[in-house]
Amino acid sequence: MFSYIVRDDKSSVYHALVETISRRSHWTQKTGDTVKANLIIGERNTVKFPFGRLGHDGILQLVNCYRGSGKLSRKTALVTALSSWQESTGEDISLWLPETYIIRPQQRDEESLRKKPFQVPKPDQREELKRSHASKQASGSGDIWIAKSTAGLKGEGILISSNSDELLSFVDSHPHAHVVQKYIENPLLLPGSRKFDIRCWVLLDHQYNIYLMKEGVLRTCAEPYEPEDISNLVSHLTNHCIQEAHSKDFGKFEEGNEMFFDAFDRILQEHWNVSLEEKILPQIRHIVRTCCLSVKEELSTAGLSYHSFQLYGFDFMLDTDLRVWLLEINSAPACAQRLLPELVAGIIASAIDPLFPPQHVETEIQGASSRVFEKL
Ligand code: ADP
Ligand code: MG
Ligand code: MG
Ligand code: MG
Repeated sequence: MFSYIVRDDKSSVYHALVETISRRSHWTQKTGDTVKANLIIGERNTVKFPFGRLGHDGILQLVNCYRGSGKLSRKTALVTALSSWQESTGEDISLWLPETYIIRPQQRDEESLRKKPFQVPKPDQREELKRSHASKQASGSGDIWIAKSTAGLKGEGILISSNSDELLSFVDSHPHAHVVQKYIENPLLLPGSRKFDIRCWVLLDHQYNIYLMKEGVLRTCAEPYEPEDISNLVSHLTNHCIQEAHSKDFGKFEEGNEMFFDAFDRILQEHWNVSLEEKILPQIRHIVRTCCLSVKEELSTAGLSYHSFQLYGFDFMLDTDLRVWLLEINSAPACAQRLLPELVAGIIASAIDPLFPPQHVETEIQGASSRVFEKL
């Protein structure tokens, strides 16, 4: 018999995972403010999770997050990790990470002034941003940028602009650091001229094996892309929440503005004469591997007295050259309803059962690791 404890089940994936675990006979739930259990479903905000309390009770322990997982999922930290990777390996990350600068607000908000009155704002990359912007304007290559808060999600707190002063004052008027990233001005569009992004789910198991879910989802815009009007966010931001809240045509083309890989593959073959497998997935695999490896030394629990696993949601865009760009990485990502049962079965089979083997495996979980994921 193994024990599990749920400290936070607000993430829909972990909610469903706990539901499945609770139906299995070799698991029993514990309650209260403890981490004394074999499997711990921890806080979504991993900064608050008491990693220091793990591994002292002489039992095998597995938690659903890696300490330091924010090194990938905070937008500023990701840029830092990938820049170091580029420096140490020589790999040119500008082939798949849009040019990005870290900008910190220079006027500090009242709360941080009160907490740390003598702290000087850390230097940022605004001079580099201004220089790059000026040279793009001079050469007539696209001069649009997107500012995204490192703490932001679901398309909130975003400014798209071709004015560097406006971008900088936008950041300065907020409490958190931002990334200011080159806007992809030539997105691949779906029939009907609609923008989309691609969400892929990635699992790291306790040995830091990297698994890419074979299924993924395109989150589509319901209204045509309007390159001339960057203030019309409904045609520029593909987030589900933005589309659902603001598009009058939400759900008109795809149910829930979601298109699955099989449908997208047919469109790629029909309109661009390429397949997802030959043209797109190799780029995605490479980006996923590189990002995970870039922080492996800092995240890995090898040698520690407890184990971690982690699910990430990678957001990508394609451009008209069929090049894949990485936009961001999310921790505790939600999952399309249609894929949820398989994702949960895959996580249990790949990341939980190997450490806590069941007496007999239910049919839904049998073989789920290789059915749901490919190991990179
Ligand atoms: P979050 O989803 O956490 O708010 P993202 O980085 O995923 O942040 O950005 C939100 C949306 O904005 C993306 O899904 C995409 O539609 C659009 N977007 C983000 N970055 C770019 C970019 N560099 N070029 C074009 N569109 C972008
Ligand atoms: Mg996000
Ligand atoms: Mg996103
Ligand atoms: Mg994030």
